[in-house]
Amino acid sequence: MKAQYGKIQIGLHSLSKHYGIHTVLDRIDLEVSSGEVLAIIGPSGSGKSTLLRCINYLEQPSGGTITVGSTTINAAQLVSRAELSSLRRRVGMVFQSFNLFPHMSVLRNVSLAQERVLGRSRAEADERSMQLLSRVGLAEKAGQFPGRCSGGQQQRIAIARALALDPEVMLFDEPTSALDPELGLEVLAVMRELATSGMTMVVVTHEMGFAENVSDTVMIMADGQIVEKGPSTEVMRNPQHERTRRFLRAVH
Ligand code: ADP
Ligand code: MG
Repeated sequence: MKAQYGKIQIGLHSLSKHYGIHTVLDRIDLEVSSGEVLAIIGPSGSGKSTLLRCINYLEQPSGGTITVGSTTINAAQLVSRAELSSLRRRVGMVFQSFNLFPHMSVLRNVSLAQERVLGRSRAEADERSMQLLSRVGLAEKAGQFPGRCSGGQQQRIAIARALALDPEVMLFDEPTSALDPELGLEVLAVMRELATSGMTMVVVTHEMGFAENVSDTVMIMADGQIVEKGPSTEVMRNPQHERTRRFLRAVH
């Protein structure tokens, strides 16, 4: 837990998302500071994934603004390709499913986007990839195919791949939900190390231990709205809202 944070790194202002008449995100206001780790918890269908996907514009919001670092995008305006790539370059994302390329080596999986997106040479990209594979404890897997790796290892490779583009913030959408508990632990250990290193992180999770012990801030979502948000220990141990209490009782 960090005593203090830096500047605002992610800012959402009145962010909304509708599918037809269905409001999935209802005018969300949210700020995440540099170095802050925010855990988002809440019942299925409450809009957690949609919120993450809007932050890097995998989903086009219906209204509001999104700021990441020095880039602000207003949903009401036409977004240029340059603005989009500027936003996406700042944001790394890790999903429940790892989606590694099965026909490429682990090293190539981590290097490819560095060449395509950042214009790094193959040698530079491979060097950076090896650093990151070491960081997630998988340097010895560099030459293998992902299919030879466990689910936990594949997710750690996916984290290395996202970090390889030097993002300012990392978004995680239930990164351990598809894994057996012991494999989830090794992924959580990597995320904890990343949190300690000062990375700004937004983590949608069912891992109440992570929410309470690793994240700085916890936010509960329900029906497309923020029910409660505050310092993790306060929210987890002494929730103020009945909706939060109900959710925490159900998952514990
Ligand atoms: P969570 O991640 O909290 O489970 P989601 O963000 O995935 O919630 O979904 C929130 C709501 O939005 C759900 O009711 C879901 O059915 C709806 N939804 C998500 N994606 C779409 C889509 N592409 N089209 C229509 N409805 C969607
Ligand atoms: Mg989801």
